[in-house]
Amino acid sequence: MPTARRSRPPQAALPIVALPIVALPSVALAADLPQAAVLAVPTQPAEGGARLAGVVEVGGPDAFDVEGLLSRESAKGEAGELVAVPLPGQGRWERALLSGVGAATPADLRKAGAALGRRAGDAASLAVDLRAFALDGPALRALVEGLLLASYSFSRKSEPKQRALREVTLVGPVLSAELAAAVVVATATAAARDLVNTPSLEKSPDWLAGSARALLADLSVTVLDEKALASQGFGGLLGVGQGSTRPPRLIQAVYDGGGSRHVVLVGKGITFDTGGLSLKSNDGMLAMKTDMGGAAAVLATLRAVADLGLPLRVTVLAAAAENMPSGTAQRPGDVLTQYGGRTVEVLNTDAEGRLVLADALAYADRELSPDVLVDVATLTGAMPVALGKRCAGLFASDDELAAQLEQASLVSGEPLWRMPLVEDYRVALDSPIADLRNIGQPKLKLQGGSITAALFLREFTGGRPWAHLDIAGPARSGADEDELTKGGTGYGVRLLTAWLVALAAQPVRRTGRRAARSSA
Ligand SMILES: [Zn+2]
Repeated sequence: MPTARRSRPPQAALPIVALPIVALPSVALAADLPQAAVLAVPTQPAEGGARLAGVVEVGGPDAFDVEGLLSRESAKGEAGELVAVPLPGQGRWERALLSGVGAATPADLRKAGAALGRRAGDAASLAVDLRAFALDGPALRALVEGLLLASYSFSRKSEPKQRALREVTLVGPVLSAELAAAVVVATATAAARDLVNTPSLEKSPDWLAGSARALLADLSVTVLDEKALASQGFGGLLGVGQGSTRPPRLIQAVYDGGGSRHVVLVGKGITFDTGGLSLKSNDGMLAMKTDMGGAAAVLATLRAVADLGLPLRVTVLAAAAENMPSGTAQRPGDVLTQYGGRTVEVLNTDAEGRLVLADALAYADRELSPDVLVDVATLTGAMPVALGKRCAGLFASDDELAAQLEQASLVSGEPLWRMPLVEDYRVALDSPIADLRNIGQPKLKLQGGSITAALFLREFTGGRPWAHLDIAGPARSGADEDELTKGGTGYGVRLLTAWLVALAAQPVRRTGRRAARSSA
């Protein structure tokens, strides 16, 4: 494929920074209450309102009536509820936050942690009194992830508002390993959010490759540039990227923690999606710097997997391209040759994610011998129509893999719902002149755009156990809500890490089997 390009406009080289850009608060465990600016005391639902599950230690004897305050505030003790108690001149605490924890399930504690992290963000330090609870690992992890992820911030203001909260102390059971794991996962999620939130003026495919190298500095990271992609036949990446002055990249990162399983994670890395010549509306483009949320999730997951030292071999492929309309852009009606030789008639240049993913999936199947293959992508606008903005769609060729991911979703608090690969829809991808077309044939009126997209991807997985996460909804949030912050959410990092932790703990099953599928 010809790779002649216009000369690039002069642009200052943007530095690659350590991620996350703003460090999260540090979290320590203690058996006794330390000095802190804010003391959080849990409350729980009780007959007719809320009851205190701890003591507001104000120094003097019965300085005020806390139970009465809860009653006057109509507190219910529900997860995330907060009642502030100023403690002026008291010395040890500036204020107390009476923090609803509901039934203290992991989901409740995640919500409570997020509310505390946000409300105490303007105080230098926070102590959370958990002595009334026999918290286990999952509960502690959920609380810590909620606290830290709600403390995340990203700003390009000339004078960013600084978060004051630096130190959090959790007082109660000392579960040091669980705390360390939660901090690893939250930090990796924050790094993913930074990648997603970075404006596309900076975020070229090459910038994403540089950021992957920085994030995974201790791991093997190789990057195929446009010349290498052309010589090896990555027609999908090249076709999608050819309209941009900033050429595509295939980023490959490897963590080898031993063990005989090889997991390959593939992420969609469209660093900006205009739709190409099938141009989106202005409104449709507003969030499109986030169209690399899948790539961010898999790269950050690898950071977490390496930091946790899991006994697995995990390879990440991030397929990065910028989808722009220009005189060099691919046209509707063009036929691409994907990695491995299959041809695709491009009938809508805005269905570009599947083209770059197809290259990466085919490459993984042919070159990496994965035992399991999972791709993550902000793939279709149809997915949030079906499942809303908080829930990802899961498609899988393998029931056991699907069940593992569903279980990881429950553990991690990142919702997903399994969707069907409807075999009758496969016909919509037939092309009269190529092996496949990149969008479902509209004349068939089958709809189901997320399903046909998944069926398209399946064609490139070589029948291996494969799952596809369509994260077009939950990859971004419109508001600060619970542990999510407005903008990129880092969806997938918690889910995939929880899955890989569980997988690493399982005995090895017979690998390399081919999943059954019908021919089309
Ligand atoms: Zn698109």
